[in-house]
Amino acid sequence: MSVIQEVIAKVKQIDPDQPEFHQAVEEVMETLEPTTKRHPEFVKANIYERIVEPERSVIFRVPWVDEKGNVRVNRGFRIQFNNAIGPFKGGLRFHASVNLGIIKFLGFEQTFNNALTTLPMGGAKGGSDFDPKGKSDGEVMRFCQAFMRELFRHIGPETDVPAGDIGVGGREIGYLYGYYKKIRNEHTGVLTGKGLEYGGSVIRPEATGYGTTYFAAEMLATRGLDFKGKIVAVSGAGNVAQYAVEKVNQLGGKVITLCDSSATVVDEQGIDAKKCRYVMELKNVKRGRIKEYADKYNTACFEGASVWDVIRDQGIKVDIAMPSATQNEIDASHAASLVKNGCICVAEGANMPSTTDAVKIFQENNILYAPGKAVNAGGVATSGLEMSQNSMKLTWTREEVDKRLLIIMKSIHKACVETAETYGKKGDYVTGANIAGFIKVANAMLAYGVV
Ligand code: NAP
Repeated sequence: MSVIQEVIAKVKQIDPDQPEFHQAVEEVMETLEPTTKRHPEFVKANIYERIVEPERSVIFRVPWVDEKGNVRVNRGFRIQFNNAIGPFKGGLRFHASVNLGIIKFLGFEQTFNNALTTLPMGGAKGGSDFDPKGKSDGEVMRFCQAFMRELFRHIGPETDVPAGDIGVGGREIGYLYGYYKKIRNEHTGVLTGKGLEYGGSVIRPEATGYGTTYFAAEMLATRGLDFKGKIVAVSGAGNVAQYAVEKVNQLGGKVITLCDSSATVVDEQGIDAKKCRYVMELKNVKRGRIKEYADKYNTACFEGASVWDVIRDQGIKVDIAMPSATQNEIDASHAASLVKNGCICVAEGANMPSTTDAVKIFQENNILYAPGKAVNAGGVATSGLEMSQNSMKLTWTREEVDKRLLIIMKSIHKACVETAETYGKKGDYVTGANIAGFIKVANAMLAYGVV
C-alpha cells in the first residue's frame, strides 16, 4: 500500500462516521500521489498523515432562550485545522445538517483554499446545527451571543479569524462581533465579513460570487471563449449565488436558474440585474423563499427539486454550471445530463458540490471543470484583504479591492494550470489546485520540525 493509501485507510478506520471528511481527504490525497516521489522529504517527515489531522477540535454546548421562554440547546464546533502558513481562518456554518464530519471536511478543504490565495492564512471551519430558518431576529441574536460566549476564548486576530458561510451572513456576523467586542473590550479584526461601518471591507459580500465568475472566465479563455451569450445555471440563492448572478450579467451571460432547499425556479428570459436585486431583497431582508420569485415573475417553479434535478428531468440546455448551494448537490446522473445537454464548463462556487463520480464524468468528457477550493477562494482572499485593512487601520476603495480580487483569481487560475502541467496532468484543475495548495503548506510544516 502506498503512503497515500495508508493515510486514507487510517482516516476511514479511526473516524468511520464522517463520510464527507473521507470524501474530501480521498479526493485530495489521491491527486497528491506524484508528490511522494518528487518530495521524499515530505514522506520522511510524515506530512501526509499530519496534514489530515486537525491541530485542534473544539466542540461545545450552546444554550439559548427562544421567543416562548424555552431553553434550547445546540452543538457548536470550531475545527482549527492547520495554521502552518498563517492564523486559522475559515467560516462558520449554521445549518441543521452540521456535524463534526462536515465541519472537518470544510476545515480540511479550507487549508488548501487559503494556501491558494497567496495570502498568509491557515485553515479552519466552525458552526452549529442551529437552523436560522424561521427564527426571529431576537432568537438569532441570542443564539449568536451564546455561541460567542464560548468561541471567544479560542479565537483572536492573530490566532483564528472566523467569517460567514451557509446561514451566517451580515446579520449574524454583526451579532457575533458585537458580543465579542463587548466581552473582550476590544475592537479588532477577529471576524471578517463585518459591516462597512465597523471594520468590514467593500466587496467582501460580493467576493465569492464575483471571484467564482472571474475564475470561470479564466477557464473559458483557455479555449478562446467567454460569458457573452452563454446560458448559465446557478444553484442556491444565498450570498455566493446572488453575486455570481450579478457578475455573470455584467459579463454578458444569461442566468436562468436559482434554488433554495425548498424549490428551484427556471426563468428562460434570464435573471437580469433588476430581478437579481429582487432576489437579494427577498433573501437578505425579507428572508423569504425562492418560490416567491416564480410568483412575482410568473416563471416555472419546481418544488422539492434541485437545479440539477430540473436540468436533468426537463432536458434544459445550459452552457455553464455554477453550483453555489451545498456539498454533493451534483451526482453522477446530474453530471451525465449536463454533459448530454452541451455544458462546457463547471465552476464550483460551493464547497465540494460535485460527488466523486460526478467529477469523474466531467473529467472524462473534457469539460472545463474546477473544484471549489480554487474557484471560490475569492471570498476568503477578500477576507484576507479585510484583515490587512484592519491591521493597517485603513480602508481601500471598491476599485482597489476589486482589482486585487481579480489579480488573485487570475493568479490562482495560473497556479492550477501550471502545477497540473508540471505534474503531467495538463488541464486537470483538481490536481493543479490540490498540489499547488499542498506544496506551500507542506513546506511550511517541514520548516517547523515536528510540532
Ligand atoms: P447562504 O448564503 O446561506 O446560501 C446558501 C443557499 O443554498 C441558500 O439559498 C440555501 O437555501 C441553499 N441550500 C443550502 N442547502 C441546500 C440544499 N441541501 N439543497 C438546496 N439548496 C440548499 O450560503 P453561501 O455563503 O452562499 O454558501 C453557499 C456555498 O458556498 C457553501 O458550500 C459554502 O461553503 C460555499 N462558500 C461560501 C463562501 C462565502 O463567502 N459565503 C466562501 C466560499 C465558499 P435555504 O435558505 O433554503 O437553506
